[in-house]
Amino acid sequence: MRITDGIYQLLTPFPQFTIEDAKALRVQLQEHPRVTKGLPYVLPYLIKDGDDTVLVDCGWNTDSAYQALEEGMKEHGSHPSEITKLVITHVHPDHYGMAGRLKQQSELELVIHEKDAEVINTRYFAPKGLVDDMAAFMESNGVPPMDTPNMSRGSMGMIGMVAAVPPDTEVKGGETFKVGDFDFEIIWTPGHSPGHICLYEPNRKILLTGDHILPTITPNVSIHAQTHGSPLGDYMRSLDLLLNLDVELVLPAHEFEIKDLKKRIAEIESHHEVRLDEMVACVDSGGSTGWEVAGRVKWATGTLAEFEPHMQRAAVGETLAHLEYLFEQGRLGKVMRGKQLYWLPV
Ligand SMILES: [Zn+2]
Ligand SMILES: [Zn+2]
Repeated sequence: MRITDGIYQLLTPFPQFTIEDAKALRVQLQEHPRVTKGLPYVLPYLIKDGDDTVLVDCGWNTDSAYQALEEGMKEHGSHPSEITKLVITHVHPDHYGMAGRLKQQSELELVIHEKDAEVINTRYFAPKGLVDDMAAFMESNGVPPMDTPNMSRGSMGMIGMVAAVPPDTEVKGGETFKVGDFDFEIIWTPGHSPGHICLYEPNRKILLTGDHILPTITPNVSIHAQTHGSPLGDYMRSLDLLLNLDVELVLPAHEFEIKDLKKRIAEIESHHEVRLDEMVACVDSGGSTGWEVAGRVKWATGTLAEFEPHMQRAAVGETLAHLEYLFEQGRLGKVMRGKQLYWLPV
């Protein structure tokens, strides 16, 4: 789909969706936004001007996602073998999975933020360490031992659908690059992922937001075994960073494009404020583990006990991100008791 001359929105399906179903959902969601059972698609952006063919994000490394990408590029007179630069907003499999396959087809320069380049190694090249770390991490947050092995293996099934490859260029944020007439600035927006980036084109007033800002859903901001610091604190600061940009069109990597950046940022911030208040209320006067708090919080999709193991892990990770942010703000305390971490009211 043409966004403006030179910028095109493509679509690649998630593994459990056909190309046709994903395309139909793309149209339906814009008319009637709703929560689907799993995300149906990723929206890569093709930016083409003169000799430059830049792709922002790609998709899972499946044949149907590749086919969708190839067809989408063909509609705009291009082909994956012509890609000169592949910019990845963050290294989650739906955005990065196909990078290795695309790199075999062209001389493209793969661009990733340095903080997400670090994640590639531990997540995709040496996942065994991640599993062990995750098991210990879950135990320390009060996840019952019986649940631990399942939960820590929750994401291992996706490794086959990622053709991981290291970047050619690592960025820090603040860099600019030209695509013909377009001037793009790379903005580092950590939170959803430590090295998440957005791309800003000030002349066209266009912002590519990856998963950082989505029209109706909020991205998972989570603490896991390899997290440092406070991801939700980072995420909220990354939202503030975009507040004063002159933007007329937001191009996210899921759902559909939106116009009003400031309004969406305000909505996301108030969503998290409500969540933060709820989390404080779920902490016992004598202290609670992350697992206990996650079991008391209201989840849109059911209760913690009913969730599949990987969803339980996501819920605990998301709970911990809120608890850590509350600690950072001085609204909660924390203490180790034996091997377990307890959160305390202040
Ligand atoms: Zn993501
Ligand atoms: Zn995503």
